[in-house]
Amino acid sequence: MTELGSHELDPGHDVVDFLSPDEAADLTTCDREPIHLPGAIQPHGVLLAVRETDLTIRRVSANSATHLGIDPSVLVGAPLSLALGTEPAERLQEALGDPRASGSDPLLVHVAAGLTDDAFAVTWHRIAGLVVVELEPADQSAPTMSTLFEDVRHSMEALQSAEGARAICEAAVTEVRRLTGYARVMVYRFHPDEHGEIVAEALEPGLEPYLGLHYPASDIPRQARKLYLLNHLRVIADVDYTPVPLLGDPTDAEDAPLDLSCAGLRSVSPFHLAYLRNMGVQATLTISLMRGTRLWGMLVCHHGSPKLVGAQLRAACRLLGQMFSLLVVAEEGHERDRYQVRLAELESQLVTRMSGAPSLADALVDGAPSPLALTAADGMVARIDGRTVVLGSVPPAATVEALLVRLRSDDRDAQSFVCESLPRDLSEPSDLTDPTDLTEHRTHAGVLAVPLSARYQDFVMWFREELLHTTTWGGDPDKPMTGDPYAKPGEDGFAQLGPRESFAAWAHEVRGHCRPWLEAEIETAKSFADTVPELLLARARDRLAHFALHDDLTGLPNRALLADRLEQAFARSHPRGRHVALLFVDLDHFKLVNDSLGHAVGDSLLRQAAQRLVLASRDTDTVARIGGDEFVVLCESISPEAAERFAERVVAVFQAPFDLEGAEAVTTVSVGVAVADPSVTPAELLRDADTAMYRAKNGGRNACAPFTPELRAITLRRVEIETRLRPALEQGELELHFQPVHTIAGELRGFEALSRWPLPGRGMVPPIEFIPVAEATGLIGALTDWALSTGLSALAGWRARRPELDLTLAVNIAPSLVTHASLERMIADALSRHDVPAHALCLEITESALVVDDAPARHFFTTMRDHGVRLSIDDFGTGFSSLAYLTQLPVDEVKIDRAFISGLPARTADATVVASIVGLAHQLGLEALAEGVETEEQLATVRRLGCDLVQGYLLGRPMPAAEVDRLLTQG
Ligand code: C2E
Ligand code: MG
Ligand code: MG
Repeated sequence: MTELGSHELDPGHDVVDFLSPDEAADLTTCDREPIHLPGAIQPHGVLLAVRETDLTIRRVSANSATHLGIDPSVLVGAPLSLALGTEPAERLQEALGDPRASGSDPLLVHVAAGLTDDAFAVTWHRIAGLVVVELEPADQSAPTMSTLFEDVRHSMEALQSAEGARAICEAAVTEVRRLTGYARVMVYRFHPDEHGEIVAEALEPGLEPYLGLHYPASDIPRQARKLYLLNHLRVIADVDYTPVPLLGDPTDAEDAPLDLSCAGLRSVSPFHLAYLRNMGVQATLTISLMRGTRLWGMLVCHHGSPKLVGAQLRAACRLLGQMFSLLVVAEEGHERDRYQVRLAELESQLVTRMSGAPSLADALVDGAPSPLALTAADGMVARIDGRTVVLGSVPPAATVEALLVRLRSDDRDAQSFVCESLPRDLSEPSDLTDPTDLTEHRTHAGVLAVPLSARYQDFVMWFREELLHTTTWGGDPDKPMTGDPYAKPGEDGFAQLGPRESFAAWAHEVRGHCRPWLEAEIETAKSFADTVPELLLARARDRLAHFALHDDLTGLPNRALLADRLEQAFARSHPRGRHVALLFVDLDHFKLVNDSLGHAVGDSLLRQAAQRLVLASRDTDTVARIGGDEFVVLCESISPEAAERFAERVVAVFQAPFDLEGAEAVTTVSVGVAVADPSVTPAELLRDADTAMYRAKNGGRNACAPFTPELRAITLRRVEIETRLRPALEQGELELHFQPVHTIAGELRGFEALSRWPLPGRGMVPPIEFIPVAEATGLIGALTDWALSTGLSALAGWRARRPELDLTLAVNIAPSLVTHASLERMIADALSRHDVPAHALCLEITESALVVDDAPARHFFTTMRDHGVRLSIDDFGTGFSSLAYLTQLPVDEVKIDRAFISGLPARTADATVVASIVGLAHQLGLEALAEGVETEEQLATVRRLGCDLVQGYLLGRPMPAAEVDRLLTQG
């Protein structure tokens, strides 16, 4: 922004339109002076007013004898040819008939009439049916046409090569002074309030400079300004001239005062002459500088002694003035445009910064560019979407509030508010909570406020500090003018007014104002205000889009967004899909948490799990939730090895317990890893990761597994299992096998019932493959019912055959079924149907499925214990849950997981675990069973460690019921 000083042109300020209708309201005495009807001319030429139809002279200036040698009385009523001679009169008539001819371009004629034989410069113009013809003796010392042409061309080049409005002004005064030789040449620029300022000056050495001085608007009366619009070139050859009256036929009906508005010789107001004399000026030349039809300023030439430059040179100066105004107005326009463009750029940078930001208000004030630059303000208060932010130097909060109250109470609703003097514009004390605020806190004098929503609920207010500026006046504008040459006693006002007598520079300090807000700044502020609601709307739309693509609960991308990102990742990599990996993460036994502890706890677990996954991932990874407890992590630029390491890390971070409503609980994950190769599609990669995850689950959960091509067959198999399990179950295709359980002393205690599914063409499907499917598809209830019924039916037979053994049967109960209300009834019915005593039935529930404070599970356990049914914790030692819950649940047996047995006897750590489990079990009065005993050494070890019961291939594989029959028969 250009700093505005008296020596700078202000690119923003508008030219004054003196023809606006409202100006008439304030006519001063001077304004009433009929200066366009002076009835007289200056003596350096002759004026003839002729009737256009027949060129008869109607008026003539009284000095016709001096210049033309013909008495005016002779000329009134005579043809023009009498005054000019025939040839010049004909040339003039010809010019009048030529639509392209301009009377202001001087016509050089040789007048040989009366006693004259001289060259004259003739100009003419039409007014009220008359043609006013003005003759000035041709300047004998004037340069020849070709010299003049060269001079003017040189000046034009000087103007054109000047850069910037200020340099153009300087070139103009220098050139006009060079051409005309006036002692002082100035560019006088009008301000919006009509006062003027000297913005450029060229002067004779030794003269006091006026550059930077301001002149009050009253120095140039309004109708004088109107004349400047009509007549762009005015000359006073000598302020001490004697006016020459106009004469006409007194009987002439057309003898109304002649309007001399456009006459170059027009006699000047005595006010103006006195004013010039007081300034020490003897001769002047003034050229109006136009911007369109408005007055931009004036080129003013002053001389200390009488001086008249020839009509042709004056015309050349007028042309130069025209060119100068075109150039300077264009340059100012460019400067304004450049500023506007810069502000628009700033605005777009701000908007870019704000769009997509979570808080528009914060984004507005944080970072570069500063929103203060948008309006060249010193401070800003903004409220967007209810959030208030403050930047830079602003008035006290109470003042801002008071201002808001005012803006809201006014009808300003949707309007901007521009104020350059708060003390002046908001001075009513009732408006303010603290009436002294605005007047005392002068430091903030300006505000530019724009509403962002109805009633200024949201808004931006830019503030400007007070600009202490000093205007140096050429004379005190407040001192009334005196010495009215028209003074008439008794007429108030007239006596008061007159030309300025003292032009001593007078400095005026202006307080309580800020630098004016420029049009470009106001427009930018408004445009910005228009944009903010759009940004809010866009953000609302973004949020909706976010919801469509994100999971509500965890805020993570959902399946749709994952699919999109996956597609992009494939597209980015080359060859397609290279180094793209997916981790398929599934929480182990999540359904149990949800069913037993309630959805709120389940939700909390999912959120925490999501957080853990995000923390474990890189910033560039996408962590998505694609189903209830299924998460997927998308990684780019990752090697297969790194992907597997990452999967292991994910499994590891889930070893730490979660805080579930104050209680600690471990929820492990099963993770499948799939790395893309050019042959897979994104959808296939996701399916592969899912398959790998199932492998991890089947491997006992709490583990990760990479996808291998062989697994693809497993996927197909799973699909097959999913579709064929129900009919198989309904048609009784499943088999129940029985694995013997012995006491450590070697006695047969009973059997564990294990399901088998001989699937035609697929061999024997192990339970690890179809039990999860049964759980997932809701078939587990029917399957358990079948297992209980089939198992107890067989047991009843065996018990009948060998009553002395008091054989038992262990049936596995899926964790997801434990909380099922129908389970208790199912068990009770099966026992009574097959007439098996409750103590002969043992229910096995996997340890990792148990959750602390699991009320429904505890209820189930208690009910079963009350029935007399035995309860066993299966796979004990793998669940990472606190052993403490053993004390809280009414169990009878722990089955130590095969994982600890298989390492025996070599792994002493495993032996320690087994020993401590056995110790704990015994302390609680429970029996300890060792699963998966395959060797004699293992048997010896578990015996030594104190286990009560054993089960394993060594003592018997799971076998069909018929085989058990045989076994029992053989004894
Ligand atoms: P589980 O309850 O822990 O059953 C013991 C598993 O260990 C059985 O696998 C059994 O065949 C195997 N096993 C026993 N002794 C040895 C040994 O010495 N060495 C080795 N390597 N393995 C041995 P299976 O039959 O494949 O069953 C796997 C799991 O499937 C079972 O683990 C159980 O959790 C589940 N399951 C089986 N049948 C049913 C059922 O009818 N209902 C439910 N809900 N789950 C069942
Ligand atoms: Mg079992
Ligand atoms: Mg087991």
